[in-house]
Amino acid sequence: MTLLEIFGLIGAIVIGIIAVRISLTFDINQFLENRRQIKLNQLKNACPHLKIDVDGENIRVESFFSSPPGTITWGCSQCGLIVNSKQDIKRLQKPFLQNPNLYIEQMEKFNKLAKKLKLY
Ligand SMILES: [Zn+2]
Repeated sequence: MTLLEIFGLIGAIVIGIIAVRISLTFDINQFLENRRQIKLNQLKNACPHLKIDVDGENIRVESFFSSPPGTITWGCSQCGLIVNSKQDIKRLQKPFLQNPNLYIEQMEKFNKLAKKLKLY
């Protein structure tokens, strides 16, 4: 083997390693992004989209949905879910208004997911 061939071989190996590294980091980033996206969707499913505060005998309900000026859609400030109408909001929030225990369970689920995503 000549010196030139040895250098050629080393060059080929280095290029090979770099190529593997690049494709590997790309795949990992894609994989992590996909997982994050799945978790964000789970977060939207777990979010009750409202807040129920019990203060003695008073129960205060606060919706997280608001409609930014100039838009017709409504967005949840807690999870980022976008809906198109007030009917959708009612449909999403109704189970929690009827069953406060469900709300507490749902908030626990939501907080666990949010912690995993390091959102709060
Ligand atoms: Zn929400």
